[in-house]
Amino acid sequence: MTAGTAIAPQARPGDAAGGPLPPAPQDALPEPVGAFTYTRFAPWLPPLENGVEPGRHPVVIAGGGPVGMALALGLANHGVRSVILEADDSVCVGSRAACISRRSLEIVERLGALPAFLAKGLAWTGGRSFYQLDEVFRFEMPHDARQKLPPMINLEQYYIEQYLLDEIMRRNAVTPGLIDLRWGTALTGIEEDAAGLALQARNTLGGYALRADYLAACDGGQSFVRKALGLELQGTGYEGRYVIIDIELHSAHPTERRAWFDPPWNPGSTVLMHRQPDDIWRIDYQLRAGQSTEAALQPAAVREFVQRHLDAIGEGHLPWKTVWTSVYRAGAMTLACYRQGRAGRILFAGNAAHAMPIFGVRGLNSGFDDADNLAWKLALAARGVVDAAAGAALLDSYSQERIAAFHINAESAMRSTEFMSPPSRGFDLLREAALSLSGAHRGIANLINPRQTQAVHYADSPLSSQGGRNWTRKLGKALLEG
Ligand SMILES: Cc1cc2nc3c(=O)[nH]c(=O)nc-3n(C[C@H](O)[C@H](O)[C@H](O)COP(=O)(O)OP(=O)(O)OC[C@H]3O[C@@H](n4cnc5c(N)ncnc54)[C@H](O)[C@@H]3O)c2cc1C
Repeated sequence: MTAGTAIAPQARPGDAAGGPLPPAPQDALPEPVGAFTYTRFAPWLPPLENGVEPGRHPVVIAGGGPVGMALALGLANHGVRSVILEADDSVCVGSRAACISRRSLEIVERLGALPAFLAKGLAWTGGRSFYQLDEVFRFEMPHDARQKLPPMINLEQYYIEQYLLDEIMRRNAVTPGLIDLRWGTALTGIEEDAAGLALQARNTLGGYALRADYLAACDGGQSFVRKALGLELQGTGYEGRYVIIDIELHSAHPTERRAWFDPPWNPGSTVLMHRQPDDIWRIDYQLRAGQSTEAALQPAAVREFVQRHLDAIGEGHLPWKTVWTSVYRAGAMTLACYRQGRAGRILFAGNAAHAMPIFGVRGLNSGFDDADNLAWKLALAARGVVDAAAGAALLDSYSQERIAAFHINAESAMRSTEFMSPPSRGFDLLREAALSLSGAHRGIANLINPRQTQAVHYADSPLSSQGGRNWTRKLGKALLEG
């Protein structure tokens, strides 16, 4: 057994006025994980006149994570060019999203990347929960032979980003400059004037100014854009901590979600296990109150925990190695509005707009939905197909629909989180009662259901409600004429 180490190239904190600095140049590439090898992309400067890039971009996207790349591909589907500023110089390092829903796969299909997702991803349909040594719950996600896509696939986030990037490169080969992805380049300043947005970007070669009609803030949980506008996420943060351990293990166990509550080999805690491509397995376990995060991440503690877990599930004889460790804390938080800026030209999407607990896998899955919802509306507004008032109303509908979706998602995700890591003694007692009674009472066993992500209806959307009819008729007319 060997514990691998991978160092994430991260944006360094900069001064408050200038925003985060771009990542420091790295000498070594992150270690390969399974069959995945990293590439570093060099920064470059566009042609400049006195430090200013001539012209104006219809859309600049801050952040080339999965949501920023999905938005750029969606805009390209509607004939809109974009510039992506990405502070990092590679796709994401480490273990993040793993479970991608059918709804997200439908979106990925529209973006052109579905074949790669399906070829590499591991399809699955259900899972099992155990209380101590007994299996107490089994769930199946809606699926039948007529469905074209599986209810869920497991695929590591670095593959997700790589496949979106591959599609961006394919599109650019046909239409050069369609999606202008600028690696190692951070957005560091935002100003608004009557003509639009004046932005500052910086990479290791220097800083420059560029202009845009719209800015999409897809710059993740630590969003620079959010901070620059003085905005904060509001909602619930949880104290419970989960250790995330990815291991390489050549096991023949099928792809399913397994959860162990209060297992004898880790009493009072919860352990989750998921298979990912390349024989990488994600093991998450809940830290008990008072347990030190630092101590839990020590390589010897990780080795001891994983071996104990594998022994208990009958796989302790298999060779394995650690490929990633980190700690996760859940929160369900959102901005009050995803359309911001004096003239409403700044749109938030993905983790920059909201934080979602990982239980129920709604983080990136809801980010893909944001990108899908925003792309066509922003494209119509940016191309001027609709007049300014209709463009503004369409972008407002993006914010309204996706905030409504946040509340639906957060409700389920928070209930899952409260079950997975009870925030108080009361929740703890409730969980213990549900788990101990679930073997004999089917109704109670349903409380253990992990409530995996599902597509959300926009019941009160201004686009589909009674009051919105006239308005959508006008939009349809403009589209036909446009
Ligand atoms: C342990 C773990 C497990 C998870 N599992 C799941 C799961 O199974 N399913 C699921 O749906 N979700 C899951 N998630 C959530 C998922 O990882 C996130 O929701 C997703 O990464 C959000 O994508 P994003 O593009 O919005 O943000 P990010 O992925 O954070 O990307 C933001 C990008 O912006 C860049 N950036 C930052 N600042 C700047 C700047 N100033 N200028 C330019 N670029 C900038 C960053 O470098 C980064 O590349 C999980 C997360 C964790 C931590």
